[in-house]
Amino acid sequence: MPELPEVEVLRRQLRRALGDARLADMRIYERRLRFPLSEGFADTALTRDRRGTPRLEDIRRRGKYLLFHLSGGRVLLCHLGMSGQLLLEDSSQLEPRRHCHEHLAFLFRRRDRRGGSRTRTVRLGFRDTRRFGFWDIARADELSEHPRLRGLGMEPFDAGFGGSFLVGAFAGRRVSVKSALLDQRIVAGVGNIYASEALFRARISPMVCAGDLTARRCGRLAAGIVSVLEDAIAAGGSTRRDYVHSDGGGGYFQHRWSVYGREGEPCPGCRCRLAETGGIQKSLQSGRSTFYCPARQRR
Ligand SMILES: [Zn+2]
Repeated sequence: MPELPEVEVLRRQLRRALGDARLADMRIYERRLRFPLSEGFADTALTRDRRGTPRLEDIRRRGKYLLFHLSGGRVLLCHLGMSGQLLLEDSSQLEPRRHCHEHLAFLFRRRDRRGGSRTRTVRLGFRDTRRFGFWDIARADELSEHPRLRGLGMEPFDAGFGGSFLVGAFAGRRVSVKSALLDQRIVAGVGNIYASEALFRARISPMVCAGDLTARRCGRLAAGIVSVLEDAIAAGGSTRRDYVHSDGGGGYFQHRWSVYGREGEPCPGCRCRLAETGGIQKSLQSGRSTFYCPARQRR
């Protein structure tokens, strides 16, 4: 499942590829996504501005949501769910449907980088085999009140994010710190993989009660979250399956995680002895697997 770094890497690729293109056309092949696509989705998205079809003004991210800002104050929201993929190709043909799990396709037209009056068309397809992903359209000035975005917590790269934010957010919470990190209402965009990795960097056991963390440990945890996300973005995102670059180029650079998926292995940069600790441990917390070093990560 893509987490914040994967979505951020995708956002940057899309922005590079699409620039300030105009949304020329689109097709809907399947409306039954995680939530059914709204009736007026295509018509609203394609509403022309004074100069023609809507211009892509920016692509932003909130948590794991991609936000395509169009001229005229409309925003396309995209969530990739478990297995959503966005694939770009140089093509002026929307039809035919490229894949039996392709649900939406968009045609963008942009000025050619070589200049002049030449244009280039790019087709963006949305595939999702499991259909846990979805799209919606909203007005830009109502975006923060959108039902899917309204409850989202702090962005880890916001200036206000840090140890003191976590101290306040965790205060009185009688759940494990791992569960608290997965709660999108506290911190947006951190999922199972990066929560485990951040706790490892911060040397905090995932089982510690969130409300019991000292300010000092919250400071380490905030730094761990930011550094692990930054490293993953720098590595081009990381993934286990069902996910490809937006250019369809065949998958992510395989970022090497320190603890995630490495049960029984020695942990990197740790002085713990494999014979004594048994290496990296795996346990289930609220049905999600958690990986940690029992020696380095203290309760
Ligand atoms: Zn260790």
